[in-house]
Amino acid sequence: MSALEINKVRKTFGNTEVLKEVSLAIESGEFLILVGPSGCGKSTLMNAIAGLEPVTAGEIRIAGRDVTWCTPAERDIAMVFQSYALYPSMTVRQNIAFGLEMRKMPRGEREAAVERVADLLQISHLLERKPSQLSGGQRQRVAMGRALAREPQIYLFDEPLSNLDAKLRVDMRTEIKKLHQRLGTTIVYVTHDQVEAMTLADRIAVMRDGEILQLGTPEAIYNDPVNRFVAEFMGSPS
Ligand code: ADP
Ligand code: MG
Repeated sequence: MSALEINKVRKTFGNTEVLKEVSLAIESGEFLILVGPSGCGKSTLMNAIAGLEPVTAGEIRIAGRDVTWCTPAERDIAMVFQSYALYPSMTVRQNIAFGLEMRKMPRGEREAAVERVADLLQISHLLERKPSQLSGGQRQRVAMGRALAREPQIYLFDEPLSNLDAKLRVDMRTEIKKLHQRLGTTIVYVTHDQVEAMTLADRIAVMRDGEILQLGTPEAIYNDPVNRFVAEFMGSPS
């Protein structure tokens, strides 16, 4: 059984078909990266998986369970987006604990979870600060901490590093890779950075115009692109 299954998912906005029968199966513990040009439907697909946007047709399953019509909270998914949206009036500790509180986790467990992720992300010394007192990279870690504290079945990352400078992006990339290796969770990760895709992915899905053109290991996609578009997009040798 796949951790996440997307079966013939379509999404239209008005007359525009943004997702055209997308199908994809992601295995448990897999790091899947979604790449493709701006506007090809990556975020729409992520929002559909998360339950933030209803699909027009098709089916989404998590660990075999049909969640197509479930709310985001019922899906056991955590998301990290490009804009972190931390609560400005809350401390880092409160920001990380908030989602756990909403899920009625008892106080003791909640505090332990906050300490655990703070340690993992090396933000223990920042727990009493407000978001305004943090650098961009630190805020990004807090946003990630908030997702990690929940220990969901699946993580969705939608261009989480695109607002960071180049140096920080490389550091965070290494850290995400380590986290994945340590926790062994299932991750779907959107990026438009080919190097990021090649370094992080177990498999890469290349999208264009609402369709997945190719799905395979980084090596397979790089060495054996199905068409010129994929070759050019992934920078394959010609
Ligand atoms: P990507 O994340 O790959 O850059 P998106 O999924 O954000 O692409 O967008 C895909 C297409 O769907 C774009 O043409 C975008 O304008 C359109 N789109 C996205 N969200 C909406 C919406 N809420 N209403 C109308 N069109 C939308
Ligand atoms: Mg997007």
